[in-house]
Amino acid sequence: MALEPVVLQLKWTHQFQFAGYYAALEKGYYREAGLDVQLMANGQDGRSVSPVEEVVSGRAHYGISNSGLVKNFMDGQPVVVLAAILQHSAVTWLVLERSGIQTLHDLSSRRLMTALPVNESYELLAPFRAEGVAVEQLNLIPTTHDLRDLLAGKVDAFDAYVSNEPYLLEQMGIPYRLIHPRSYGIDFYGDVLFTSRQELDAHPERVRAFREATLKGWHYALAHVDEMVDLIRQRYAPHKSRDHLLFEAQALIKLIQPDFVALGHINPGRWARIAEIEQGNGQPVALSQLAGFIYQESPPSDGRFWLMTGVFTLVALGLLSIIGWIVKINRRLRQEVAARKAAEWQLRRLSRTDHLTGQHNRRAFFQVFCREFARFRRHPHPLALLMLDIDHFKRVNDRHGHPVGDLVLVEFGRRLKGQLRRIDELGRIGGEEFAILLTDTTQQEAALKAEQLRKVIANTPFVVGRQSLSLHITTSIGVVSANSADKSPKQLLARADDALYQAKAQGRNRCVTAP
Ligand code: GH3
Ligand code: MG
Ligand code: MG
Repeated sequence: MALEPVVLQLKWTHQFQFAGYYAALEKGYYREAGLDVQLMANGQDGRSVSPVEEVVSGRAHYGISNSGLVKNFMDGQPVVVLAAILQHSAVTWLVLERSGIQTLHDLSSRRLMTALPVNESYELLAPFRAEGVAVEQLNLIPTTHDLRDLLAGKVDAFDAYVSNEPYLLEQMGIPYRLIHPRSYGIDFYGDVLFTSRQELDAHPERVRAFREATLKGWHYALAHVDEMVDLIRQRYAPHKSRDHLLFEAQALIKLIQPDFVALGHINPGRWARIAEIEQGNGQPVALSQLAGFIYQESPPSDGRFWLMTGVFTLVALGLLSIIGWIVKINRRLRQEVAARKAAEWQLRRLSRTDHLTGQHNRRAFFQVFCREFARFRRHPHPLALLMLDIDHFKRVNDRHGHPVGDLVLVEFGRRLKGQLRRIDELGRIGGEEFAILLTDTTQQEAALKAEQLRKVIANTPFVVGRQSLSLHITTSIGVVSANSADKSPKQLLARADDALYQAKAQGRNRCVTAP
């Protein structure tokens, strides 16, 4: 496969500053990305070019610049920043220790050597503005890039690169001091990788591949500093000492901050702040003004994107159907549980109900009776029991048939129930025997209630059956009130039975209250 030739315009001469690009070349990362990359050094033989001009004109495809790139963009240059390699700028004011200069304020009245016009030196001049010193008042001298001007005392401060001039002074044993813009709140990016709008629009895949291979190269270079230093001396900068390259590596790695920041990381808010400072008119810069300046990686177009989308969709569909299945099972389970509960409730109800009259059966009545009696034993309170037995019921059956007798029993239960409170308990405890438990009812009240019930039965004939037979039905009732001598429900029941027997004996259709 033929490699695509592209040109990368470096910012300066070959040195450790560009170690990542050398590594990407030497380790074959660019080649693997389908790229034949040519590195163009800068500033050699005193001849320097502007990387922005080279890239925008198309002579180079990619370039290394500094934070000034955002000003180029604001001024209408079609540039796109791809990655920030140095998270902080390497540019600084350098003074000799013997000058006695300590702070930025000390500099404001001194001779300052820097790149001119002033817009070449935003980040060195911005701290003065931030500290309230007008740039027009400063004594600025165009830089010669010759450190001897500082040593000879022609100027008091020199615009330096942390990895370069400090090394030379250390070699000479001359004490110096650095006054960093960062100490005054001016925090610019250092080296940034960029391309042109034309390149990104025409070859988005190439831009992505170039950026990725470059960052891979930087990862390698930072992990293999010694190897890179040897490589640079062999291939690119034979005149640089090993010692100087190592010094440079150390100084720059501090600014790359690989341990804290993902290599190449770009923070849009920081760019907006830098743009604001570079404009120098105090106007804030909105992120929207930087649209198009900051590179946003588009999804890879080699099918990986569609493959991932497909896999994701399949996984999502699988999950959805599992969730659907669980919901369905759950719903069925809930229906099942509800049906069982209803069936159980129905069973319980049936087990407590007399199937003929629909009133409580013997079992249900005695459950309530025992519970209420226990309560009475714990906390004595009025509690009365009525025992009812239909008079001469056998005759009803004999004369009119068992089915009519059944209807009489149903009507009998209904009439009793109609006279009772919700808290009273009625039960059919035998063939034509019924019992009634009256809570919170004294003996006197119970006797009155029994009399009322007797009349309800006796005073109105029972009209039953298809022939609407009118039957005169009566009942005998034994009335008893619980007292402390009653030790068990049985005892109370026996007394009620006795009273009922008395009523029968005395001629029926009457109520007898136990003593
Ligand atoms: P008394 O109580 O007044 O002494 O006379 P009685 O005729 O009611 O006598 P007893 O209590 O001995 O008879 C009850 C009768 O009730 C016996 C039985 O045939 C009838 N019986 C019991 N259960 C049912 C039933 O479910 N349906 C019908 N139709 N009759 C029943
Ligand atoms: Mg009976
Ligand atoms: Mg009877």
